Amino acid sequence: MTISVSSVSKYFYSHAALDGVSINIEKGEFFVVLGPSGCGKSTLLRSIAGLETIDGGEIHLAGHHVAGKGTHVPPEKRNVGVVFQSYALWPHMSVSGNVAFPLETARLAKNDIAAQTRNCLERVELLPYADRKPADLSGGQRQRVALARCLAQGAQTVLMDEPLANLDPHLRHAMEEELSDFHRATGATTLFITHDQREAMALADRVALMWDGKVLQVDHPHRLYSKP
Ligand code: ADP
Ligand code: ADP
Repeated sequence: MTISVSSVSKYFYSHAALDGVSINIEKGEFFVVLGPSGCGKSTLLRSIAGLETIDGGEIHLAGHHVAGKGTHVPPEKRNVGVVFQSYALWPHMSVSGNVAFPLETARLAKNDIAAQTRNCLERVELLPYADRKPADLSGGQRQRVALARCLAQGAQTVLMDEPLANLDPHLRHAMEEELSDFHRATGATTLFITHDQREAMALADRVALMWDGKVLQVDHPHRLYSKP
């Protein structure tokens, strides 16, 4: 689905973490927000996910008004999947338990939950690891569990908050490929935030450069640095 952020502001005390940010993300696009630590990337992602309220502007998801002007649709009603750097997996549950959880809270039939969980684990090639605990997986595998959980939720939109930042360089490369494959296979609208320029260039359909709460420029990666 489309993501439309219009003139959004967010203040922490008197400091503007977001200072009139506008971006429009097309359906199916892989959109990267690139900027240094502290520039407001996480706040932007969390505002879209519904994990923060906003102080000005509006956010629309698939044309629905979800934030601004006194409206705040809660995260679970926004139909977006979120993948964090820290994975946000439940440590006491197995891999399949983690993936099945959103389906259980949606009260699907047991057989459907089992089938859908298998299907999602298969798509990220983790079926052999279904009974393990997250602690017994590599960083890349944990990230794939988080992706499988997004798939299970049926999220057509995935928001990723520096999901590769904790991985070693080798695994990072492999996960970049996987994210590209995941995106091609699902056609999910993807917002990916990072402070890593190389990562942004490798993954993005379009990149927004962010600095001190503002979006400075939005363009295709190969055009970002070729302007006079
Ligand atoms: P980034 O993701 O680009 O590192 P953040 O969105 O996390 O940036 O932070 C943007 C600014 O907002 C920073 O100055 C940060 O200190 C501030 N900030 C973020 N979250 C909070 C919070 N919960 N309380 C106070 N200040 C915050
Ligand atoms: P950081 O960017 O510092 O690594 P995270 O992005 O992991 O931190 O988490 C930022 C905030 O989001 C924390 O306050 C955390 O409690 C919250 N959070 C993390 N995962 C989830 C989740 N799956 N659902 C809701 N909130 C989450």
